[in-house]
Amino acid sequence: LTHLLERAGKLFGPVEIVSRRPDKSLHRYTYADFVRRAKALAEGLKRLGLAKGDRVGTLMWNHYAHLEAYFGIPAAGGVLHTLNLRLHPDEIAYIVNHAEDRFLIVDDVLVPLLRQFEDRIRVERIFVVPLTGQAVPEGYDDYEALLAEATGDFAYPELDENDPAGMCYTSGTTGRPKGVVYSHRALVLHSFAAALADTLAVSHRDTVLPVVPMFHVNAWGVPFAATMVGAKQVFPGPHLDPESLLALFESERVTFAAGVPTIWLGVLQALDRSPRRWSLVPGMRLAVGGSAAPEAMIRGFDRHGLRVIHAWGMTETTPLGTVSHLKSDLAERPVEEQYAYRAKQGIPVPFVEVRVVNDDGEAPWDGQTMGELQVRGPWVAAAYHNQPEAASSWTADGWFRTGDVATIDPHGYVKITDRVKDLIKSGGEWISSVDLENALMAHPAVAEAAVVGVAHPKWQERPLAVVVKKEGAEVTPEELRAFLADKFPKWWLPDAFVFVNAIPRTSAGKFLKAKLREQYRDIYG
Ligand code: ATP
Ligand code: MG
Repeated sequence: LTHLLERAGKLFGPVEIVSRRPDKSLHRYTYADFVRRAKALAEGLKRLGLAKGDRVGTLMWNHYAHLEAYFGIPAAGGVLHTLNLRLHPDEIAYIVNHAEDRFLIVDDVLVPLLRQFEDRIRVERIFVVPLTGQAVPEGYDDYEALLAEATGDFAYPELDENDPAGMCYTSGTTGRPKGVVYSHRALVLHSFAAALADTLAVSHRDTVLPVVPMFHVNAWGVPFAATMVGAKQVFPGPHLDPESLLALFESERVTFAAGVPTIWLGVLQALDRSPRRWSLVPGMRLAVGGSAAPEAMIRGFDRHGLRVIHAWGMTETTPLGTVSHLKSDLAERPVEEQYAYRAKQGIPVPFVEVRVVNDDGEAPWDGQTMGELQVRGPWVAAAYHNQPEAASSWTADGWFRTGDVATIDPHGYVKITDRVKDLIKSGGEWISSVDLENALMAHPAVAEAAVVGVAHPKWQERPLAVVVKKEGAEVTPEELRAFLADKFPKWWLPDAFVFVNAIPRTSAGKFLKAKLREQYRDIYG
């Protein structure tokens, strides 16, 4: 990474980096400033005694100082550890302590959050970034003062490509978050792959914007790839609502943005209802990951001339694994047929291998046989931090068990059908909870639906549908059953439908299915 940083300083000095501040004003500077300040941060951390491999936690939104931390911490030999600020304060405290972070860097607007768990963490010093222009609160160190003390007389520490550079915890959808460590090599190779023409195709012609909060590894690829190629970078700050995002896309002429489906669905609705004509850059691309991109969303953005690239990945895959870019032989097919591929999670990116394994061994690439998706590649994690009991996540021959159930079609497109833990096993057959949910959500009266397997005395498990109705809409369980009966075999249909006001979710917006299973465990009792 130190090479990437030096290279960016030498080659891309005048290219612009724009960040939105909390008050929505714009902070503008150049790669030259960014590289100088990232090195000043590295110098400061080293002066404070940061040793190789020491973790530095960041509690920050998307802006220039977080970009500086992305490079400055690893350049000092430290490990960049981005903290998920949407977690419960208790959870953040657990993660800071589990990771043994030595220092923290925190946005001034996030100090109120910090104060909710500060008494429970063991860190040496906390640096506050004065984004609002106000003085740093009493009791904390000033990030700007640390940088101002730099002399510029700084030598990178001796680093090996296998030394740790970054760390991120999983979202905690299926249990306690697990810490994943990334080497310099993993981050550099990954950034390179993201920039390849058949992956995300980030180049010097682009203006990129990571919409996913930069604490999430889904966002990491964008600034790293952009710094590799010298693309203009734009950061939205804490404002991720659709109108603010669209305004920034327009004013900065953004060509590539990466986000999760929930955010893009909001942006699509805003575009659909907007009476004004958005002057978005023609051919702008939106990368979508984190959860499945509904086909309706891909079609919706096509109408506005925005191309959706669907991607799959996990914290453990740094995160890019597959991308739904259309291979040239499929690009010749009728547009209608192409949606079937574009809605899948895609083909593996260069250097990453995929296979699907079930009780019968490796499944054929027939687009039907389900099994657990396993991946292997240079940026797939090899262990969890401080969690030796999780070693069973890797096979003896070095494949990582993703915990996702998938099929692979003859063209090599992976489709995620479920998580292993959420797959419903009924009378020896497998039922995909995700397929049932998607079908239910196509019903006009359904706002949201989660399907879980609940213990059943005869069939081992049977599906249960938990449904949130759209405001003012009415529908009965019989009607929903009949609606699904057109699309699925009889034994797939949920035995019960319960209507609720809200479905519990994680901070990343994923359904907390373990909670639902617990709540309704006796329903088929
Ligand atoms: P934990 O591992 O702590 O339970 P998590 O798996 O949700 O949490 P992440 O690493 O943030 O943590 O998310 C990775 C998971 O997100 C994948 O295993 C997969 O289930 C889901 N996912 C990611 N991208 C997609 C996608 N494009 N379509 C469907 N699911 C996706
Ligand atoms: Mg996971």
